[in-house]
Amino acid sequence: MTIAENIARIRANMAAAAREAGRDPKEILLVGASKMNDAAACREAVAAGIDALGENRVQEMVQKLEQHAYDGAPLHFIGHLQRNKVKQVVGHVALIQSVGSLELLDEIEKVAAARGLVQDILLEVNIGREAAKSGFAPEKVLPAAEAALERTHVRVRGLMTIPPADAQRDANFRYFQEVQALYVDMNQKLFHNELEYLSMGMSGDYEDAIRAGATMVRVGSAIFGARHYN
Ligand SMILES: *Cc1c(COP(=O)(O)O)cnc(C)c1O
Repeated sequence: MTIAENIARIRANMAAAAREAGRDPKEILLVGASKMNDAAACREAVAAGIDALGENRVQEMVQKLEQHAYDGAPLHFIGHLQRNKVKQVVGHVALIQSVGSLELLDEIEKVAAARGLVQDILLEVNIGREAAKSGFAPEKVLPAAEAALERTHVRVRGLMTIPPADAQRDANFRYFQEVQALYVDMNQKLFHNELEYLSMGMSGDYEDAIRAGATMVRVGSAIFGARHYN
C-alpha cells in the first residue's frame, strides 16, 4: 500500500465514524505523525492531501524543514518539548499541540514575545494521570487555560491527549469522552465556544476518538508503515 492509498483508506474510515456519530466528516482533520519517516515520505503525504504533518523530535524536524519536507502543508509539533528547545519550534510551526506545563507555556510566551508573534497551541491533558507522561491533570486544565489567556503571545486553540497505552478499548473510549467533556466545558466557560481543535486518536483508535468528538486525529504507522527503532 502506498502512502496515498493509506490516507484514502483512513479518510474513508474517518468519514464513516463521523457519520455514525452524526457528525460532518469535513470538520475532522487528519494530521500525519511523520516521525522517523524521511522528507520524501512527508512530501508524498502532502501530495496526497494530508491536512497537516506532526513531528515529535526537534532535531529531526529542523533537518526535515531544511529539506522542505513539509512544503504545502501546515506543520505541528506533537511531541514532548523541552524548554531549551522552544526557540527552535516557536514561529516554525503552525501549532504546538503538546503544551503540558506552565513552565513550558511561559517559555513559549517569552520566545514568541521576543519574536513579535503569537504562537497557536493546544493544552495537553494527562487524562490517565500517568507519572511518566507530561500534560495537565484534568482539574489543572481550566486554570492552565486561564493562565494562557493572560499571556498575549500564545493562543489556545484546544486540547490534545494521549490515553494510557495499556488501556483496553472501553477504558480508552472513556478517556476520550472525559477529555471531550473537559474541552466542551473549557470552550464554553473561557472561549465563547470558539475553540476548534480536540486532538485525540492515533492509528489504533482514531475512529473511536472521532466517535467521542475528536476534531483532529494524529495518525502515524497506519499512513507511513511501521516505524523501525534501532
Ligand atoms: C507517533 C505519534 C502518533 C501516531 O502514532 P501511531 O500509533 O503511529 O499512529 C500520534 N501522536 C503522537 C504524539 C505521536 O508521538
